[in-house]
Amino acid sequence: MKPEDDNTAEKKVILLGAGASNGSRFRLPVMNEFFAGFQPDTYPRLAEYLYSRFGVPFDNLNLEDVVTQMEISRDGLGAKWQAQGVRISAARRELDAYIRRQLACLDDGYPHDLPKDGSCELQEKIFLSLRPNCDSIISLNYDLIADYTLKHIDKSRRPSEQYGLFQRAWRIVGKVAYSGGGISTVHKKDRERGHYLKLHGSLDWLYCSDVNCGNHQVFHVDVEDACHPDGVPCSLCGSQLVSVIIPPSMNKSLELYPKMGLVWNLAFRELSHASHWIMIGMSLPDSDIHLKWLLREAAVARDRRLKLTVVNTKEDACERAESLLGVKPLFVRGIEEYAEQCGKPT
Ligand SMILES: [Zn+2]
Repeated sequence: MKPEDDNTAEKKVILLGAGASNGSRFRLPVMNEFFAGFQPDTYPRLAEYLYSRFGVPFDNLNLEDVVTQMEISRDGLGAKWQAQGVRISAARRELDAYIRRQLACLDDGYPHDLPKDGSCELQEKIFLSLRPNCDSIISLNYDLIADYTLKHIDKSRRPSEQYGLFQRAWRIVGKVAYSGGGISTVHKKDRERGHYLKLHGSLDWLYCSDVNCGNHQVFHVDVEDACHPDGVPCSLCGSQLVSVIIPPSMNKSLELYPKMGLVWNLAFRELSHASHWIMIGMSLPDSDIHLKWLLREAAVARDRRLKLTVVNTKEDACERAESLLGVKPLFVRGIEEYAEQCGKPT
């Protein structure tokens, strides 16, 4: 094997949790502070839904709880007998708009000293420490900070040394790639490289919910226009396009969004082939059963010892990671400290 082919020798995977966006320069809200400052008059159908299910005040509501409650009514157990589809769909559309408002970094409401392209210097330092054609980033966040940062990195490189993670992520979710043999799978070149994978969807991914439509199997990605208007029609069948925002419960997600099966499969492959996992701002709550399953299975599938780094503001994140994976992690206190380490010459 040629040295450049042995990409697994020191392969790294960075896992980004909500703390990575909260700890970025944009200070995006974490799940349990998402509705602080919520304005019911701007989102009346959502407000009615929240009031009837969770009561007031809204300030301490957890976004994951709200999305999970809605998804089970729309597509899970509740869909079998609840006749509230239209009302819940209207509330869900307003929730999508509210999430975009809260998480879209290019909004005018952000402080003027932040980059206008939505990139984050801390994440940039971290991503630049990765090897372009080998290491991977797996995100649990819907927001676009890592997307904008990878795009920023791509723009600053010469075409001959394109980082490529950002463009490859589009190829994976946006269309089916064919291998030379005619079997539908990820292109051989892409299999050997690292990936940027978003396990719970993305603000800028839209898809058609009509299973008979050609646009059902793929996501339309438009990072330039993440704040697209509500209810835009599918170009093939006219159904309303829906944001791909998936709760940790993953309720029927693989049936609703077939493409996510590929995204999770690639995440498993990247994790099981890597020798070093860096978990940034991940809380690993008990409710995140699918993520925990993925991490455990990938750790078991490895044939050599895993090196684990936990980057978090709270040291008890190490205990949760160790009890999940049986590996004692190296602890780094916060994303700023880790970015500084990444920025130092080795
Ligand atoms: Zn359609």
